[in-house]
Amino acid sequence: MSHSTHYFTGSRDGKRPPAGDPLRKAKDHYDVVVVGSGLAGLTAANILGRAGHSVCVLEQHYNFGGLATWFKRRGGHVFDISLHGFPIGMQKTCRKYWGTSISDRIVQLEGVRFDNPQFQFDTTFTREDFTHKLVDVFGCAPATVESFYETLRAMNYYDDDGRTTAELFEEFFPGRNDVHRLLMEPISYANGSTLQDPAITYGIVFSNFMSKGVYTFTGGTDLLIREMRTILARNGVDVFGRSQVDEITVEHGRVRGVRVGTREIRAETVISNAGLKATIERLVAPDHFDNAWLDAAKQTRLNCSSTQVYMGLGPGEDLPWIADLLFTSTRPEFDSASLADMHGQSRTFSFYYPKVRPGTGRHTVVSSMNADWADWADLSEPDYAMAKARLEEDTLAALEVHVPEIRSKLTHVESSTPRSFAFYTQHTQGASFGTKFEGLRYSMELPQQIEGLFHSGSVGIIMSGWLGAANYGAITANKVDARIDSLAAETAPTS
Ligand SMILES: Cc1cc2nc3c(=O)[nH]c(=O)nc-3n(C[C@H](O)[C@H](O)[C@H](O)COP(=O)(O)OP(=O)(O)OC[C@H]3O[C@@H](n4cnc5c(N)ncnc54)[C@H](O)[C@@H]3O)c2cc1C
Repeated sequence: MSHSTHYFTGSRDGKRPPAGDPLRKAKDHYDVVVVGSGLAGLTAANILGRAGHSVCVLEQHYNFGGLATWFKRRGGHVFDISLHGFPIGMQKTCRKYWGTSISDRIVQLEGVRFDNPQFQFDTTFTREDFTHKLVDVFGCAPATVESFYETLRAMNYYDDDGRTTAELFEEFFPGRNDVHRLLMEPISYANGSTLQDPAITYGIVFSNFMSKGVYTFTGGTDLLIREMRTILARNGVDVFGRSQVDEITVEHGRVRGVRVGTREIRAETVISNAGLKATIERLVAPDHFDNAWLDAAKQTRLNCSSTQVYMGLGPGEDLPWIADLLFTSTRPEFDSASLADMHGQSRTFSFYYPKVRPGTGRHTVVSSMNADWADWADLSEPDYAMAKARLEEDTLAALEVHVPEIRSKLTHVESSTPRSFAFYTQHTQGASFGTKFEGLRYSMELPQQIEGLFHSGSVGIIMSGWLGAANYGAITANKVDARIDSLAAETAPTS
């Protein structure tokens, strides 16, 4: 079995990145420059390109998709980073903003399993099955469960009453740590939120999941991003990799464009899909902001980062059916903060059977844990290597409980840490899911600080994950479209 302990920043498709100036084909001016090719950036770019605006996407990595990505390893292994599950809403979002070649490939996961000292069962993660579990397994009153769902459904961004998720759970299911675990654990993995985050973030995200189950993309992330690039090209969007935006340039309070090394590309509108903190703390010079606003925006807290272990089965090896997603823990009781413990007892396994990439016959398993930057950031290289080796060993031991013969089937094991995510995306502290709730406000207020500068991407918990990011890209594109129309009206000759 090959073990690899370096970052997953090597060539992900086995090919060397092309040499030469990556921006040689870029124009000197676009209507819109998008900084970053995450799902929010790509979705915004596609909508604006489709509307007839000239758009380019500048991505610092040579591959595209941001955290919606994959990598390949010798021996035919392909590993997905963040293709574990998203709500049904992604189907509609993709149909509307990308078309049916993408939305038709979105299919429901067949099974989600929980295995911890408080409960063990399989669920389809649909509202119907969750209700059945809450009522028949946990013994909750049906009226309480319905009223809980209705309360969540009614929640929206403008009605934040300051309640935390812990308080919400206590109101409906007092003292029921097991119920809290069922309700919170999957959401903590999905967006890094904890019991201490605002109840409305929980309500909005849980309601999205709790309609018709959990979904995935058939063909894998590589196919998704390849198809998105084809559609972008069709819509005239220029996409450039290896293009590190060093600065978003501003003149007289208005965005002027971006600087990539010594090259400036001008644009009346810039959408930053880089992290919110990187956008306001690194990409724009501080004197362009109102001081009080900037000071407050800098206080925005980040969500956690992640660790992952990627395990590839050799060709011809089989994996018994367990589930698509397995939430497993040996902690007797649930507390959401402990999900980010450095060598914690809780992890999620994603099992990728051949149905994910039909025709390949291959199986991979990816385990994910939430993680804190501080635990990993300052380790010396030897300590870092040791911590990674321990992470891999702990993960294999946990997987062996479910697949006893797993070690003999694996031909590749590799891990990533908050340092990998920071290196790869340039997100502050390797944040996997953007910022805490307060970040959404600063993200949305950016154009009031600098005319023509927008932020779009994982932020505020609600706008995180594949669906949240793609939807935020669409919301931002609509605002930008309206801005371009009004600029055109301003400059149109009067008869
Ligand atoms: C381990 C893990 C598991 C996850 N699992 C799931 C899941 O199962 N389901 C789900 O829905 N979500 C999941 N997510 C979250 C989801 O992947 C993200 O929320 C989403 O993909 C983020 O999209 P985004 O548009 O915010 O941009 P990102 O994906 O964060 O991309 C930002 C892009 O900007 C680029 N960039 C940054 N700075 C610059 C610069 N200066 N110049 C040029 N380019 C720059 C980066 O290189 C990157 O490509 C997971 C995340 C992680 C880390």
